[in-house]
Amino acid sequence: MSNCFILLAAGKGKRFKSKNPKQFINYINKPLFMHSVDKALKSKLFKSIIIVSNLPIKNIHDKSIKVIKGGRERHESSHNALNFIKNKKFKNVFIHDAARPNFSIKLLKRLYSGLKNNKAVVPFLRTANSTKYKVKNKIQNLVRDNLLFTQTPQCFDFKTLYSLSKYNKEKVTDEASLFLNNDQNIKFIKGEKNNFKITTKSDLKKISFRNFYGIGFDIHRLIKNKKLYLGGTKIPFHSGLQGHSDGDVILHAIIDGLLGAMRKKDIGSLYPSNKMKFKNIRSPNMLSPILKILDNNGYFINNIDINLICERPKVSKYRSKIISSLSNLLSINKDQINLKGKTVEKLGLIGKEKAIACETIVSLNCYA
Ligand code: ZN
Repeated sequence: MSNCFILLAAGKGKRFKSKNPKQFINYINKPLFMHSVDKALKSKLFKSIIIVSNLPIKNIHDKSIKVIKGGRERHESSHNALNFIKNKKFKNVFIHDAARPNFSIKLLKRLYSGLKNNKAVVPFLRTANSTKYKVKNKIQNLVRDNLLFTQTPQCFDFKTLYSLSKYNKEKVTDEASLFLNNDQNIKFIKGEKNNFKITTKSDLKKISFRNFYGIGFDIHRLIKNKKLYLGGTKIPFHSGLQGHSDGDVILHAIIDGLLGAMRKKDIGSLYPSNKMKFKNIRSPNMLSPILKILDNNGYFINNIDINLICERPKVSKYRSKIISSLSNLLSINKDQINLKGKTVEKLGLIGKEKAIACETIVSLNCYA
């Protein structure tokens, strides 16, 4: 697979009226442009992701991501990126405007499958509005059924797009225009209503979500000679948690919370404890298929609240370590996670340090 994803994030966004360009403002828990980056990463379609930006971008750790400078106009930025990758042997290139953060991973996959028999695949929507067209001072009717409103991401055979971009320096507002100006064929596919462009502040509120909540609970016995894992990270302790897996009560309770919110049964039905193939499985490996279901169905995590119920280890000592690990595993910000420690007045198995329990509440959003 040799696909490159180019994200155009160099625009000034004059209509947005803010000090920060809109692609860098915080939008649903992260910088607006990161929504596109995360979806490109999660789709696993791309060997490389190029972000074109005129502002420095920090905190990018994934090695497949490069940041390069853009031009003054969109078509210049796009050409800069194509030039940057010209010797990198990509067969296909996807180009996307950072101002459209709400496309789905499914759309990326549909675009890619269209590329098998075409050199350009472009999503579009129709309009329900009656439409007029102004030429000089005369206004004429247009047949709305003949109108196509194109969106990004758009994807192309790299060589074809690169030569079109190299020899056509005129200003275009998308790469589909380059193809059409040069009588090249495009396969048009159905775009997505949620994939609108954010141009003004009121667009930030345009998308509506549905909220879902899930509750999770888990308990495991402590046994000697086993490592203790909590929230996917090793915690020094005299015992570890007994179980078919590594017994990570925090991750198990989070998995059940996520499944609950998605209304997809429970951890036991996905990982039956009588199946040998799940023996000694590490809990982060149990989590990743659940996160895939989450992404594929358009859900994302709003916040997670966790009660870890044990006498020791002291939660305060390991809180930031556990939260960092969870933030990594779940690809969410640390401030979306809260971890509380609860003791049980030395009562029962938990009080005698023979078991650890955990309960969670998970809140998910889903594109309505
Ligand atoms: Zn468990």
